[in-house]
Order: sequence, then C-alpha cells, then structure tokens
Amino acid sequence: MDEPTNQPSPADSRPRLVAAHTDLAPPKEAWAAYARHSLACRVCGDVDGGVCESAGELRRAWVAATDGAFRRLAGGTA
Ligand SMILES: [Zn+2]
Repeated sequence: MDEPTNQPSPADSRPRLVAAHTDLAPPKEAWAAYARHSLACRVCGDVDGGVCESAGELRRAWVAATDGAFRRLAGGTA
C-alpha cells in the first residue's frame, strides 16, 4: 500500500470543542459558546463546584443576544 502514513487524520488535527467560525445567528452562536464552555469546564461539570463566573458571563451574553433578536423581530432598532 502507498497510503501516506505521516499525515494526521482530519479528526486528530482539529482542536477539541473549538469552532473557528460559524454562520449561526447571534443567539445560537451565544448559546453554542455557553454549551461549549459548560462541556469543557470543570467547575460547571462539578455539582459541588460552586458558581462559574465564565458561565454566568456567557449566559448573560446569550440573554442579551436573544433580547436583541426579539427586539429586531418586533421592529425595534435593537
Ligand atoms: Zn464554567
């Protein structure tokens, strides 16, 4: 077989849980960031881990993005 053996497989070359760029709407993008953080964060994954400030900030960003989307849908200027 002449298959190359010195190249990593595509799955191995991608960073875990990191998306370089997505074309999601802002609320979905914000929620995806929150979900990615929650899956990777030790504090968020530990029931007794306490309050995670990063998760709080990401959740507030999602709420803000969602509020902005609702305002735009309602005809406001966001
Ligand atoms: Zn966290």
